[in-house]
Amino acid sequence: QGRALEQSDQSPFNRIVGNGKWGIVANGVTFDYVYDAVKDLKIGDKVSILILGLSHPLPKKLGLKFLRQVEKVLIAEELEPINEMELKALAQENGIAVPIKGKGVAAFSRLYEYDPGMVRKAVAEYFGVPYKAPVAVTVSDLPPLPNRPPSLCPGCPHRASFYAVKQVYGNDTIYPSDIGCYTLGVLPPLSAADFVICMGGGVSSSCGFAQATDQKVVSFIGDSTFFHSGITGLINAVHNNHKFTLVILDNGTTAMTGHQPHPSVDTAAMGLNLPQLSIEEVVKGCGVKDIHIVKPFNIKKTMESLQASMEYDGISVVISQELCPLFAKSVGKGRKAKPFVINQEKCKNHRDCLNKLACPAMYLEGERVMINQNLCIGCTVCAQVCPEHAIAPMKD
Ligand code: SF4
Ligand code: SF4
Repeated sequence: QGRALEQSDQSPFNRIVGNGKWGIVANGVTFDYVYDAVKDLKIGDKVSILILGLSHPLPKKLGLKFLRQVEKVLIAEELEPINEMELKALAQENGIAVPIKGKGVAAFSRLYEYDPGMVRKAVAEYFGVPYKAPVAVTVSDLPPLPNRPPSLCPGCPHRASFYAVKQVYGNDTIYPSDIGCYTLGVLPPLSAADFVICMGGGVSSSCGFAQATDQKVVSFIGDSTFFHSGITGLINAVHNNHKFTLVILDNGTTAMTGHQPHPSVDTAAMGLNLPQLSIEEVVKGCGVKDIHIVKPFNIKKTMESLQASMEYDGISVVISQELCPLFAKSVGKGRKAKPFVINQEKCKNHRDCLNKLACPAMYLEGERVMINQNLCIGCTVCAQVCPEHAIAPMKD
């Protein structure tokens, strides 16, 4: 704590701007709002702003310097009043009797995020600066924006896995899911997530559904989440001989939060040399007897493995291995494939490709389905889905 306090006091991220008598404390995005408010209200010469880039522990020496140069203080801090309480305590311990307020000024509360207008109003109200809120821009006469639902990336292997699973298991199956990019499988047309509870909740709730219903159960979990909290549920499934299929979507990284490594990631490309665990060996070690390793871009073989998994009387695990294309690109392992095109003469325009996969590289031009060459990574999945064999790699 002592060293952290010293670092906080010396950190270039913690500093005082200005030397006016009106003190404002801000951290993170609220500093930008405060900066704009001070400019808009033309009170730059009247304020001192304590910017807390490293807000915990509160830099005491800097805080004291700030408290001694101001006459009153406004804390612009979102959510819990941590800085507010600490600054008040610091003032009290040092006998400094300046008014300090945060929560309760204008609309500053513990709830929700602040916004520029809210901060401007609070600054004006607290320091008694005349202020007129700008007239809100009316947008009622603008045409509505098209919906842009979140979507798996073009060529995402999860799309291929979901497609294959739905082809084999259909809609009358319970699909628990978990937390990761693959949660996006919830949206149509994939519709491969009936619910998400918490990290690892998909596997453990699958045990319950397998026990309590006659429906088939296919549970999805990512590689990273599997290591985080999927193993306990899997052990429970083995121990109690629950019958369901667990699909581990192994894209070789923790994709959703920015490609952090996890225990089965090859860290050599990142300049690290950490021991690498095999998901298959971990699954075997948990006691699973029926394990299938699939490459999801091979739809036919993936479906065959899923079929075998469905017929197994017990817990079956399918490990679907294909690197996240964004991660692959970042470590120099991106696909070298050509983008795909639709042969418009062969295409019967029944839109199986669009309606069953919804790859964002596909779009409608007039009534015809097209592929955006800049987005397509040549994963081949749409070509396997098209019953007319109308989709093929672009020719030179
Ligand atoms: S599935 Fe094939 S034939 Fe049907 S619209 Fe798509 S490209 Fe055309
Ligand atoms: S090959 Fe088809 S499914 Fe794969 S990225 Fe290109 S358009 Fe999308």
